[in-house]
Amino acid sequence: MPHYADIVLPLAQPAYTFSVPEGMTLREGQAVSVRFGRQNKFYTGIVWRLHDRRPDFPRIKSIERILYDEPLLSAPQRALWEWIASYYLCSVGEVMRVALPSLMKPSGDTEEEFSEEEFRPRLECYVALAPELHDETVFHETCERLERRAPRQYEALLEIASAGDDSRISTGEIARRLLRADYGALQALERKGYVRSTQHERTVERGGSSFRLPELTPHQRRTLEALREQFAAGKSTALLQGVTGSGKTEIYIHLIAEVLARGGDVLLLVPEIALTAQLIERMERIFGSRVTSYHSKLTNRRRTETYLRLSRSSGGEFVVGVRSSIFLPLKHLQLIVVDEEHDASYKQADPAPRYNARDCAVVMARLTAGRTLLGSATPSLETWSNAASGKYGRAELTERYGAAQLPVVHLSDTLRAARRGERHGHFNKMLLDKIGETLDRGGQVMLFQNRRGFSPYVECTECGWTARCPNCNVTLTYHKSGQKLVCHYCGHTETVPAKCPSCRVTDVVPVGFGTEKIEEEVARIFPEARVARLDRDSVTSERAFNAIIADFAAHRTDILVGTQMITKGFDFEGVSLVGILNADNLLNNPDFRAAERAFQLMMQVAGRAGRRDDGGEVVIQTGDPTHPVIRQVAAGDYEGMVRTQLADRQQFFYPPYARLTSLTLRHRDPTTLRNGIAELAARLRTRFGRRVLGPMTPPVDRIRGEYLVGLLLKVESGASSARARELLSAELKAFSENPAYRAITVVVDVDPQ
Ligand code: ADP
Ligand code: ZN
Ligand code: ZN
Repeated sequence: MPHYADIVLPLAQPAYTFSVPEGMTLREGQAVSVRFGRQNKFYTGIVWRLHDRRPDFPRIKSIERILYDEPLLSAPQRALWEWIASYYLCSVGEVMRVALPSLMKPSGDTEEEFSEEEFRPRLECYVALAPELHDETVFHETCERLERRAPRQYEALLEIASAGDDSRISTGEIARRLLRADYGALQALERKGYVRSTQHERTVERGGSSFRLPELTPHQRRTLEALREQFAAGKSTALLQGVTGSGKTEIYIHLIAEVLARGGDVLLLVPEIALTAQLIERMERIFGSRVTSYHSKLTNRRRTETYLRLSRSSGGEFVVGVRSSIFLPLKHLQLIVVDEEHDASYKQADPAPRYNARDCAVVMARLTAGRTLLGSATPSLETWSNAASGKYGRAELTERYGAAQLPVVHLSDTLRAARRGERHGHFNKMLLDKIGETLDRGGQVMLFQNRRGFSPYVECTECGWTARCPNCNVTLTYHKSGQKLVCHYCGHTETVPAKCPSCRVTDVVPVGFGTEKIEEEVARIFPEARVARLDRDSVTSERAFNAIIADFAAHRTDILVGTQMITKGFDFEGVSLVGILNADNLLNNPDFRAAERAFQLMMQVAGRAGRRDDGGEVVIQTGDPTHPVIRQVAAGDYEGMVRTQLADRQQFFYPPYARLTSLTLRHRDPTTLRNGIAELAARLRTRFGRRVLGPMTPPVDRIRGEYLVGLLLKVESGASSARARELLSAELKAFSENPAYRAITVVVDVDPQ
């Protein structure tokens, strides 16, 4: 056994060398307990490298003990951590912080008692139809009885029956499928003897590969074949570009089933789990208990259980999860599917590591010799370019499934409507007319209002005073419920002043509008319609979220008003009209991706309409109907958008033509900060010349009492990015070692979103 081990600790520091006690057998990737630092605290560390080179510091501490028998990380995972640390300029320890569930990396003055046993899966309750009900006549009689007298029990019974003849289904899964926990109904069914329940450990069925797969259309089959061919020809990553409702998910399902049948593991990455309940449910209908979901709403304990279970698994696992699932210990990983690959939430903005899980998935395919599939109706320009250049494979789905047509898009000119007196509140007459028609026909409506970038704030009509945060250079956002003003950067909260604090003449009034206002107006104009709202404020819990979705899906509500939340992955049959209230504030963002983002968002919102046969309509309200992006959305012209945007990006030297790294410096004292940034900018210019832009003041230049200032580094895509990173990290290191600037915080964001 080697005498020394380099151990990665969950800190922004390099690995640290410990000695291996006599008799201890270690493996790389294993978790151990060590004591470290001035206070000699206990930490969980990962054995990174075993060797015999004695480090040149006097007191070498020895490892306390081994925490788990099985290594927590496979070799490809360790390689991924290293890639992230080097690409995103952070320490491997910082990667460890996001990669492992927090219960697995405790640190403290005493060693916490944590044993592997503790995280054995708990017992779960499973239910199955009682044997008598396997008789079809009995089953139907029972159903008829229940349908009349106890509709909720009837729904639950059907759900249990749909799990298959002899398979059991966990009660948790039923709750998820019905989108509402209804344990009362299940208990009643059991009391009446219609179902049997058993308790046992959550198990993953293995070996079974008889999934009931949807039959593909010829168009879909050709696309699947094309993907298979490109993977077989050695492309490790491919783009599946398909219009909304074309059956991208069906293609995923076929590829996933193949890998599972071979005993391989699959990871399906989704932007945000709460928004993809329907997708998980769909996967569970096909893959049953094989589906493991992983996201931040799970308890710490549950995440730890999942992590440890997967680290011991012998393959055939299917995980659906958010960006951090890229770190799960899937040792037989053969396929990663990244759904909605263009979504910005794949990128972690804060804290380090500021990684993009989509890009990590591409790297992981190489490291595991597996395959990565990127799916989107509107791929990011970076991915599109990689596919166009042949670096990635590519296949398309150009038509919607079945008789479903792409929706018809109408542009409604807000300024003209105002001139003609055809504007009521935030609605143009055209949108109101179409809402009325849709409701008359018994259809459902979705209304999209992008609150971001147009938050409601309060203003004095007399002197123009607005409420600002005392700590941050931003206006406070007005929250109607509770009459509060809140800072979205630091959380500072105050009540709305009765009189203007500046001129003391008038009341202050809310300006700007969000979903709440829209909900109010539409409910007033259509008093008979049932209106609901879906946004961060209305969704206080997962349960509230599920209830809003379930009500809309079951047509218990007619109009759903919402933010981005309503755009993602929902498949509501009854929606025939989608309204976008203000397209302009999507476009007026001071960001080089604003046009691309606006296009993607509007296409996604529009895609919610007419998912079934009778076609759908979309109304976009805009003050600038001739804006190229608005026209491209109206025409569904993705290629057109790509052409104009790529031309811009090339001219102004932005991705995919350049790689960006943004540097943000923070400090309480503006003078120290000004000197610091000047010094750093000068240093970087000696290396990178005109590729360094700035110093520049960010849109919000003061947060929590600290001043902010930024630099932007633009390096040609063709240049060696490894070399650029080397130079950059050497300069940053020299800068942070300068005593004058040591207190300045430097935040590095590679490929900022
Ligand atoms: P996308 O992921 O591209 O938006 P989906 O896979 O969600 O599209 O398909 C849209 C709808 O059409 C879904 O309700 C899906 O069940 C249905 N669908 C697509 N392809 C098929 C198929 N081959 N057989 C049955 N239903 C299909
Ligand atoms: Zn603030
Ligand atoms: Zn005033």
